[in-house]
Amino acid sequence: MSLVERLEKYCLTVATSGREDPMVALMRDDFGSYSHQVEVDSLGNVMAHFPASSPSEHTVMVFAHTDQLGMVVTKIEDDGFIRVVRLGGLPERVLPGSVVSIQASQGDAVAGVMGTPPHHLTPEAMKYQVPTIDKAYIDVGAQSQADVLQLGIRVGDHVAYEPRFQHLTNNRVTATSLDDRGGCAVLMELAAHLKSNPAPVNVVLVASVQEEFNLRGAMMAAEVLKPTAAISLDLVAAGDTPEMGTPNGVRVGEGPVMGLYSFHGRGTLNGVIPHPGLVAHAEESARAAGLALQRHATVGILTDASYVQLVNGGIPVIDLSWPTRYTHTGVELCSLDDLEGLAQLITQIVSDFPAALER
Ligand SMILES: [Zn+2]
Repeated sequence: MSLVERLEKYCLTVATSGREDPMVALMRDDFGSYSHQVEVDSLGNVMAHFPASSPSEHTVMVFAHTDQLGMVVTKIEDDGFIRVVRLGGLPERVLPGSVVSIQASQGDAVAGVMGTPPHHLTPEAMKYQVPTIDKAYIDVGAQSQADVLQLGIRVGDHVAYEPRFQHLTNNRVTATSLDDRGGCAVLMELAAHLKSNPAPVNVVLVASVQEEFNLRGAMMAAEVLKPTAAISLDLVAAGDTPEMGTPNGVRVGEGPVMGLYSFHGRGTLNGVIPHPGLVAHAEESARAAGLALQRHATVGILTDASYVQLVNGGIPVIDLSWPTRYTHTGVELCSLDDLEGLAQLITQIVSDFPAALER
């Protein structure tokens, strides 16, 4: 199966944070084609082991998260409208008028739409306002609370963008959940390579949980695996759309991206300043593979690598990415060329991994 076929399969699978089971099943099965040792921990982290070509005391963990952001049902109104809160960094700006899928705990997935006032009747002042999530509601066509309950929907059920995957020009795609199904698809490319080409170090590929919720699923895997180094595969926001004015210089179609600095000050006070040895090795690997490697330093971005680096007395980490536009909306957009480039890069990095990381 090609990278794009896998990507489409993963993007069309709904798996919100804490409800990753459909992706856990896919990743466990797909890893199973390439690894003899695949384990799933109690929270759903899927770990596929690839022993070194000759015995090594070093283990590199490469990880991507399986979960996606969404919403959680908080209340079912008497008239059948469904109230929600955000699960992860869902932008309220894009919600009105969008199509969603409610993962009913007592039934099948239910289609719905995010309500918005009829254009003709919207007061002038309201036309340019972004409604906050407490004003948002989902309409599944129900006329009463009983209608909604009949569909199997309960308080606490999860909601996701209606999954979609569409090809655009220039080998680009737009889809729901490129974050981080792109990383999952690249992980599987690496698994296929490692099956017949073991690396000089042990490699464990981890499809991790709950990144969009609390950024700490991969941390739990790292505590158990005790890797010598850990590499995160997740998207980076591209800065190349008209309103952005390239604040971070990252452009779609110009290759994979290495994170040199991320920081998130809104409550978390965390980020990643990558280990210099990993930066040097990533650059050397890009050269060896003949790949362009973009660099980013961005405030406002955070991945679970920021927590992985803090366990077991400290783990050298680095963020590797591909540029994506319109992040966290239902129309995330990226270039398949960049994803292919990232797959080549991580393959090269792992295949030549040094016995000791120098600072
Ligand atoms: Zn992500």
